[in-house]
Amino acid sequence: MPAAERGKYVYRIARLLQEKAREFAVIESMDGGKPIRESRDFDIPVAAAHFFYYAGWADKLGYAFPNRPVAPLGVAGQIIPWNFPLLMAAWKIAPALACGNTVVLKPAETTPLTALKLAELLQEAELPDGVVNIVTGAGATGAAVVNDPDINKIAFTGSTAVGKLIQRATAGTGKKLTLELGGKAPNIIFADATIDQAVEGIVNGIWFNQGHVCCAGSRLYVEESVHDEVVRKLKHRMKSLVVGDPLDKNTDIGAINSREQLGTINKYIKIGINEGSELYQSSCELPSKGFWCRPTLFTNVAQSARIAQEEIFGPVLAIQTFRTMDEVIQKANNTPYGLSAGVWTDKGSKIFNLTTKLRAGVVWANTFNKFDPTSPFGGYKESGYGREGGVHGLGAYLKLN
Ligand code: ADP
Repeated sequence: MPAAERGKYVYRIARLLQEKAREFAVIESMDGGKPIRESRDFDIPVAAAHFFYYAGWADKLGYAFPNRPVAPLGVAGQIIPWNFPLLMAAWKIAPALACGNTVVLKPAETTPLTALKLAELLQEAELPDGVVNIVTGAGATGAAVVNDPDINKIAFTGSTAVGKLIQRATAGTGKKLTLELGGKAPNIIFADATIDQAVEGIVNGIWFNQGHVCCAGSRLYVEESVHDEVVRKLKHRMKSLVVGDPLDKNTDIGAINSREQLGTINKYIKIGINEGSELYQSSCELPSKGFWCRPTLFTNVAQSARIAQEEIFGPVLAIQTFRTMDEVIQKANNTPYGLSAGVWTDKGSKIFNLTTKLRAGVVWANTFNKFDPTSPFGGYKESGYGREGGVHGLGAYLKLN
């Protein structure tokens, strides 16, 4: 198919998604449990934005990679998690199509609905049959995609454990691989930051999407002199967070995605208590039926504590203090992960210093969880490799000779 033609299809998908945004948002919240306000204002519009963005690249690939012949890879196998079901599908399908590949996409077993709804939309966009194939199922289905010899590229977003399995399974096969895995992002507040603004950023960083976010700001490092003020303001703010029905537009924190994930979160809360950290949870009411977790924070956390080192993937924040720049850099980099980080300060020099020294694919300054299709996203260390988004995201779906 000529490149300009591909671009038109991707554009049409973006337009249709925009038209059907409300329906997609409701399905997304019903399926995965996230607050409707987030599906409506974040997941669906950002997914559409990715299709719009990559539609524009389809016939301009030569400009992205000057003086290099570019060709599609063939069939791309894409395996995605349950935390941002439609958005992850868009991150993966939009660049794949813009670059001329076909797709076999497997949504997560707990959240297949918006990917299936998207398949319906693709038919409406008259995308030729077989260009995008949605295959539902659990780990064994994912493994079948990974091991299929006719699939030339694997794009995986999910746990570090499964990412490592996929890395081993594809070793030596010549399949191109991108992995976007776990994280344990540090959110760093200096005493010179605008504290109220920083507190809002911390709330968003850890309680957005129930903390089911690979780049969640799950570790908080506060400069010692403002620790008490920050913790007091955070606790006050937690009181106003509403946990409940994902379809209620006043809900701040929706349902935990599955019984299994709730079990994992509760296990880590117990570990935190046993490690000697100090627990605080808001006392909001929880619905009687379903899987729920109150916004939770721990103070007096040791750097070596498991709740400061391991990804919990839930609404649990681990708070520590620091005195010097060197100390906080050392602590922030001291986990197996390297996906994202946040910095709150009034001093540009501190921001520039940290962006060069933090081992994180994304560093947000005086903001958090900001996403844009023009920006690359991806990790260092055990957070994976390869970048999605922006021009970088195109390279993942092309043979570049
Ligand atoms: P999480 O549930 O933390 O997102 P997983 O890595 O278990 O992490 O799930 C992410 C995706 O990987 C899901 O679509 C899941 O079905 C899939 N998956 C799980 N196990 C395997 C496997 N062995 N091979 C390929 N895909 C898998």
